[in-house]
Formats: sequence, structure tokens, C-alpha cells
Amino acid sequence: VFEDSAMTRVAIAGGGIAGLSLALNLHARGISCRVFEAVPEVREIGVGITLLPHGMRELTALGVHGQLRAVAIENRESAFFNRFGQRIYSEPRGQHAGYAYPELGIHRGRLHMILLEAARARLGADAVVTGRRATGVDEARDRAALHLLDTRTGEKVEDFEADVVIACDGINSAIRRQFYPEETVSFTGINTWRGTTRRKPIFDGKTYIRIGSLTTCKMVIYPIVDDIDGSGDQLINWVAEVQTGAHIVNDWNKPGQLADFLPRYADWKFDWLDVPALIEGATNIFEYPMVDKDPVSRWTFGRVTFAGDAAHPMYPRGSNGSAQALIDARVLADLLASEPDGKVALMTYQQQRLETTSKIVLTNRSTPPDFINIRVEELTGDRPFENLDALISQDELRMLSDRYKQVAGFGVAEVR
Ligand SMILES: Cc1cc2nc3c(=O)[nH]c(=O)nc-3n(C[C@H](O)[C@H](O)[C@H](O)COP(=O)(O)OP(=O)(O)OC[C@H]3O[C@@H](n4cnc5c(N)ncnc54)[C@H](O)[C@@H]3O)c2cc1C
Repeated sequence: VFEDSAMTRVAIAGGGIAGLSLALNLHARGISCRVFEAVPEVREIGVGITLLPHGMRELTALGVHGQLRAVAIENRESAFFNRFGQRIYSEPRGQHAGYAYPELGIHRGRLHMILLEAARARLGADAVVTGRRATGVDEARDRAALHLLDTRTGEKVEDFEADVVIACDGINSAIRRQFYPEETVSFTGINTWRGTTRRKPIFDGKTYIRIGSLTTCKMVIYPIVDDIDGSGDQLINWVAEVQTGAHIVNDWNKPGQLADFLPRYADWKFDWLDVPALIEGATNIFEYPMVDKDPVSRWTFGRVTFAGDAAHPMYPRGSNGSAQALIDARVLADLLASEPDGKVALMTYQQQRLETTSKIVLTNRSTPPDFINIRVEELTGDRPFENLDALISQDELRMLSDRYKQVAGFGVAEVR
């Protein structure tokens, strides 16, 4: 079936952000690859995602920034509020903060389609094979063999051989499970409900908003599509994060029920936003538990390694997962281009990326950006404040925000 199997250098399991950006990076360096994606047909699903400047640096290098900007919202500001609607802190973002790259809010499905179309246009229509689920890998005769199933029939199909296999198959990676069979996702009882609502812009229509804290109840709100129906309305992405203690299996597209979380936001009616109305206005609601995995000490096993969420799934509390997946892809492609021995390239990749991303995973648990809200909630005893400066200064809050940027590799001086 795959005549080029013997010639292909890299087999990629998973055609998400990591897999597709890896394919584009490899192609740009003249390295042959093929992507195997489990879903039979790629559709524009999902809700919003934020692309930070270091992620945009990588996407700009891949030449898709123009297409992304055309369908996204460029964030001007990030603003933090307590659950009484009082503004705690705000800061400019992206190029408004002096970065070389913007910060974008975008529909996840659109981002995915732009990457997929670029991969198909540049690498060829058959470079991304859909309906093929990776089930494992093994090594023989100086080659790696990727085992595959036909997703539609569930039947095994011919293995695909390559010099190396990169597992980009997300948080529930089948390939990672082969090396860590006992591992499970780590869930602290925080559940999220996500939706999109059409409405008039909030503030200037370019503000990323965090309200409340995980300890009580939290809401993240940002626009992802401008002027959606010609009436000036935006498509607003929102995420409600609630400590529930319930343990459920993570499934990206499980429908959410209003009754499970809306009552917690009943009194969130501020002079600048009616949160219950925003929630009730949503067309679709998805439920998703907040999960990550404990960092591991090894990703590379001979001719196989992990990238993106397969390598370092993290709590989505810092808008950082995609940027880290994009950086993995570029580092891997650079190393495979300069090092003829694939095993050496994959080991060097692990050395360059594992420690950095493990720190981010742990920081997303302990002190992500919304730690600002937690800190203020502690200082105010979870009550409205009259004079916040008496409790904590704006400079101290800025330091909390900047500390996260340093760990996550997007301090303004670093993103060049
Ligand atoms: C609720 C939530 C909100 C988030 N918000 C943000 C944000 O605002 N900004 C940000 O940067 N990041 C965010 N992230 C993180 C970001 O979505 C991930 O880090 C990013 O999608 C990782 O890309 P990936 O390609 O590694 O994995 P995925 O995007 O999960 O892609 C994996 C791909 O592999 C396919 N696949 C799975 N199993 C197999 C298999 N066995 N064989 C073949 N194919 C397979 C899947 O169908 C999928 O296409 C968020 C994550 C969550 C959960």
C-alpha cells in the first residue's frame, strides 16, 4: 500500500498540532515523512485556543501566520477579575506588549484545518493518511515499524516502516502506553465546561478575561471570531472551571449539561458582563475534566519518541500546550536534519526538551497565570475589596505573571 515506506525517514502517529507542524517542519528541511491520523475525516470541531507569541513565532516560521491572523482575534490585553467582577490586574499582550509576534484567540478547528491544508498542499494530498490508528511500534533491521489499524473496520493493516517514529497521538497516546502501560492521567477533581456564544464584544473585543479562581469557581472568556454574522457580534469562547471531585474519563467532545455548572455562576452578574446569560447563550457545550500526567524521565526509546501532548500533557491553565508542541516539532526537525543517525537525534531532542517541558507541567499545577486570582482571593478572604493596593501592589501581580512567562519560555526578551 505504501510504496514509499522503505524510503520514508519519519513516520508520525497523530495529525494534531504536533503531528502536522512536525510534518511541515520536516518538509521544509527536505526530510520525507508520513502522518497517520486516527479520525477517518478531519472536521472543524472544538472551541477556542489561544496562541501565545512563542507559538506564533513557530507558526510564522511555517508560513501560516497570514492565514491564522485573517481568521483570528489579536488579543490586546489580558485582564484578571475576582468573582465579584472587580478588576485585579491587567497587562498588554502580544505585539501590544512589545513582542515580535502577536497573541491570537482562534477557533481550534480553523487552526487545525489551516495546518492540514498547508501539509497537504506542500507535502502532497496523501501525506496525511486519515482513518489509521497507531497501536504500537517495534524495531527491526535498523528500522522502526509503526503498527496500524483501519479505524473504520478495526482491522489491522500493513505496518509502516521508517527510520524513526514520532508519537504525536495526544494525551491518551497509544505509543506512550506501550512504554508506560500502568500510567493513567492525573485528575485533581477540576471539571471544565466549554462553549462558544455569539454576542456583542466584551470591552474592546480583544481582551482575554479570567474571573474568579479554581478554589471557588473560575471562568475564562475570550473572543475567537470577529463580526461573525455581519452584525458586529463576536464568537466568544468561554470555559467554566469547577472543583467537583467527580472522576470521569476524559473525552474531548462529551456534551455538557447546563444544570451541572450554571447554578454556581447564578450571581455572576457584573455591570460589564452577565456571565449566566453568556453561558446560556451557547450553542454547544462540552464537558472535559482538567487532566495532565506526571512528567516521566524518558521519552526516547531507540527509534521512537513522543512529542506534544503525548510527551508532556499539561493542565490548560497557561495557554501553553500548543506552543510547546510547536517547539518540539521544530527542535525535532532541526536535529533530524543535522544528525544522520535518527537514534542520536531523538536522544538529543529528549535532552533539549524534557526538562524544560516538565517544569511547565509542574508550574501549571502550582503557579500558572491564574495564581494571581488565587493570591488575591486569599488576601481578601474571598470578599470584594475596597483598596487592593493595600493588600498587594500591581508590581507584585506583574511579577507573578512574568514568572510564569519565564518558566514557559515566553518572556518578551526571549521570543525573538
Ligand atoms: C480544555 C483544553 C484547552 C486548551 N487550551 C489551550 C490554549 O488555549 N492554548 C494552547 O496552546 N493549548 C491549549 N490546550 C492544549 C493543546 O490543545 C494541546 O497541547 C495541543 O492540542 C497538543 O497537540 P498534539 O498534537 O500533541 O495533541 P492533539 O491536539 O490531541 O492531537 C492528537 C492527534 O492524534 C490523533 N490520535 C490520537 N490517538 C491516535 C492514534 N492512536 N493513532 C493515530 N492518531 C491518533 C488525534 O485524533 C489527534 O488528531 C488546551 C487543552 C485542553 C484540554
